[in-house]
Amino acid sequence: MDADHKMLQAIAAREADLVALTQDLIRIPTLNPPGLNYREICDYLAARLAASGFAVELVRAHGAAADSDTYPRWNIVARRAGGRPGDCVHFNSHHDVVEPGHGWSVDPFGGLLRDGRIYGRGACDMKGGLAASIIAAEAFIEVHPEFHGAIEISATADEESGGYGGVAYLAEQGYFSPDRVQHVIIPEPLNKDRICLGHRGVWWAEIETHGRIAHGSMPFLGDCAVRHMGAVLAEMEETLFPLLAGKRTAMPVVPDGAKQSTLNINAIHGGAVEQDADYTGLPAPCVPDRCRITIDRRFLIEEDIGQVKAEITAMMERVRARRPGFAYEIRDLFEVQPTMTDRGAPIVTTVAAAIERVLHRQADFVVSPGTYDQKHIDRIGRLKNCIAYGPGILELAHQPDEWVGVQDMLDSAKIMALSLAELLLRPAPDQSATISPR
Ligand SMILES: [Zn+2]
Repeated sequence: MDADHKMLQAIAAREADLVALTQDLIRIPTLNPPGLNYREICDYLAARLAASGFAVELVRAHGAAADSDTYPRWNIVARRAGGRPGDCVHFNSHHDVVEPGHGWSVDPFGGLLRDGRIYGRGACDMKGGLAASIIAAEAFIEVHPEFHGAIEISATADEESGGYGGVAYLAEQGYFSPDRVQHVIIPEPLNKDRICLGHRGVWWAEIETHGRIAHGSMPFLGDCAVRHMGAVLAEMEETLFPLLAGKRTAMPVVPDGAKQSTLNINAIHGGAVEQDADYTGLPAPCVPDRCRITIDRRFLIEEDIGQVKAEITAMMERVRARRPGFAYEIRDLFEVQPTMTDRGAPIVTTVAAAIERVLHRQADFVVSPGTYDQKHIDRIGRLKNCIAYGPGILELAHQPDEWVGVQDMLDSAKIMALSLAELLLRPAPDQSATISPR
């Protein structure tokens, strides 16, 4: 029996362990916001990985957004060196999950196993992927206790709210610097036969139109900010949306509708503050003096963020040119550059070859419409050799009755283990002379 075959058998033999591990992780409700049970899940993983020979570090993101003594942002980084010089392969999963919401037919934190599926909030996004990467690493180490380089497994906080108390913090501390980590796999639920190379860019901004308050019976004495915003929205329909629809990317973004530039209006508010549902009175008559929208602009690798912003300013100026007294402000809220790992990068070609061996079909290459933690690894960590690859069906993320398939987890664990064998059983081609195991 050759070593690869032995390893695949070792994974198949761990099916019950994989299921139990996934269930245990789902049963720790790591809700974000506010950031519940982060320490508990890190302690659980620390015990598991220490027993498998990993050196374990718990890292709290002191001072990061949302970190507090009530809701500390705990992360875990576990490292197992192979005893010989070589590259480090890092699996990064986020341990936080979003709220369950309504519409569940099973307990969202019960981890029910039924008909080959494990149900629960976080099952596919992404505790199933985290469990698969742990099983893959443990099976690889059992068959190859001596190897080149190192394996790291991290479980990090706050991906669902931007990753600032998680991967961004670790990247700032040097955990993803290229002299420590050479290959990163993020086991997000992209489907077991797809490799996600990166994501589009994001710009969030608030646009506010200004007016002047007056009595609602004499609106001519005021200046209605909502009407000004109406003119902005009309201009958007007329010129901006057609412009964005015409911009197509060569990035393999899925789904198809996201292959163009997009813009969503996340919120609109103008005039009197909305009252609580139990308020039984009438509104007061005032001309609104402020109206605000929040825009969510997703841009392509072919676009420049400066140009993206300039388009919005130009649109506002067109409205201003034809509306007397029109005044506005644009406030930046958040921005992320697009990122896309090269198809020839070692982690891409390695995982693609392993997908072919296990699933007997060619890997699909995709780019995510929205961002995930790769943004921090790319921008702060300066590491380009990074992909998202993991089990689970993307469309189930954040849905009621979220589930992950046991067979999908087993298959992707096999693909991850074969990738480790490819990268860590011989010295790294160019770095083996300079990088020693840590
Ligand atoms: Zn996720």
